[in-house]
Amino acid sequence: MLFDTHVHLNIDHFQEDLEEVITRAQDAGVERMLVVGFNEETIPRALELAETYDFMYAAVGWHPVDAIDMTEEHLAWIEECASHEKVVAIGEMGLDYHWDKSPADVQKKVFREQIALAKRVQLPIVIHNRDASEDIVAILKEENAHEVGGIMHCFNSDQSIADACLDMGFYLSFGGPVTFKNAKNLKEVAKEVPLERMLIETDCPFLAPHPNRGKRNEPAYVKLVAEQLAELKGVSYEEIVRQTTSNAEKLFQI
Ligand SMILES: [Zn+2]
Ligand SMILES: [Zn+2]
Repeated sequence: MLFDTHVHLNIDHFQEDLEEVITRAQDAGVERMLVVGFNEETIPRALELAETYDFMYAAVGWHPVDAIDMTEEHLAWIEECASHEKVVAIGEMGLDYHWDKSPADVQKKVFREQIALAKRVQLPIVIHNRDASEDIVAILKEENAHEVGGIMHCFNSDQSIADACLDMGFYLSFGGPVTFKNAKNLKEVAKEVPLERMLIETDCPFLAPHPNRGKRNEPAYVKLVAEQLAELKGVSYEEIVRQTTSNAEKLFQI
């Protein structure tokens, strides 16, 4: 049984054919998913999906790209949503320096506020990092994020960042990028990550794994990530599946 720990089945890309996407996921052995809400539109939809499907869980948070739009009311609302029985994590949250819609100082403030929230509700956090590894690690340390732990989602940084995150008790979640032919460094990092601290995800509809790179991603493709990790770690596919699912269940306490 595979656990896809980061899906966005809650956005428009899946409006037309959600049932078929879910059937293909189940045929591929994906029996659990974490649907990640990240703004005013996607949080209610994540909760709705988690209520509709037994095998879906939800995370609620505010995306760093839209940090500038987050109000005090939004933050209070996210805290309310956190008490929903299917909400198992807070996020995604973090820093994204690729897009410049929200200035870095605003992103940092919103990131810190959500870590504090996660500590109040005692749930793990889902971290989004784009071109911001150093600042993310610094903030996680300053805010004592190890108290709740969580996931470095779609991990794509170097060994020193991996070590810093592992030291703080975080899980590293691998997605499509680890399967890309030119991802030499990331593949080397994946080889070094202990199996007990690895998770798998698609981040669908984005970042489809090889050989589907460039297409719309979907949960069934998480199988390709698991196969790649099995090869890199030199263990069986079944072992990767068993271990990553058990890691996710432990982290989310389900
Ligand atoms: Zn993300
Ligand atoms: Zn995401």
